[in-house]
Amino acid sequence: MLNVNIKSKAFSSSEGEYLAVLKDLSFECADRSFTCIVGPSGCGKTTTLRCILGLDSDFTGSITVAGETGSQKVSAVFQEPRLLPWRTVEQNVRLALKEVEESSLDALFEVLGLSAHRAFYPTELSLGLARRASLARAFAVEPSVLILDEPFVSLDEDTAIRLRKLLLKVWSDRSCTALMVTHNLTEAIALADRILFFSGDPARVGGDYLINVPRSERDEETITSIRRDIKNTVNSPAASGDR
Ligand code: ADP
Ligand code: MG
Repeated sequence: MLNVNIKSKAFSSSEGEYLAVLKDLSFECADRSFTCIVGPSGCGKTTTLRCILGLDSDFTGSITVAGETGSQKVSAVFQEPRLLPWRTVEQNVRLALKEVEESSLDALFEVLGLSAHRAFYPTELSLGLARRASLARAFAVEPSVLILDEPFVSLDEDTAIRLRKLLLKVWSDRSCTALMVTHNLTEAIALADRILFFSGDPARVGGDYLINVPRSERDEETITSIRRDIKNTVNSPAASGDR
């Protein structure tokens, strides 16, 4: 279980102004659930994820994973794949691993369609392949919580659809608690059990929507009807999402 309770998070601007970005932001993600966060640009989604990841500890409040702060593995996939350019795909994935179970690693490369690319360098990869390599790296450590920040942005739609399917496959094989930011409501509906709608200034959870339809039944028509239901029932500007 991931429990986020941020009382306040602020930045100071270069002019010394105080900018409150998050205030009384609290939510929980159940074990092995898949939650998406949708919200306007600049409202504080990435800031929230950075606090959860421990990359920014300058906030008041608490964040706990499975009841014990910092005791469980949390891994992340960012918008940019962030692979080390002088290491191969395989070396990039192995970098974070202490002990490696080879068969598990083979299976991970296989399910992500990367078996043939293990010896490639990042510069030899398309953006879609680089994103898959970054998913492999995140899953390889067997995290209990996986944080994703717009991992499929700026891919063509066909590639994005393929990657969403791969993500679901690997996530259901190696179940962990997933929390993903996306600005694409269709993507959120395709992937999540639950969508949190953030509203900004300072950010808080303005809407909370549970999706009860099994993922296998979420075809185009069903997604359209879920979108309609969200628009009618969730009272948050982000819920009328344009995509
Ligand atoms: P989102 O991911 O929802 O688009 P961010 O969390 O990146 O938004 O940013 C939220 C707000 O905090 C924005 O107004 C942004 O300009 C500001 N911000 C983010 N990081 C910093 C920083 N390091 N210093 C000052 N302001 C920041
Ligand atoms: Mg962001």
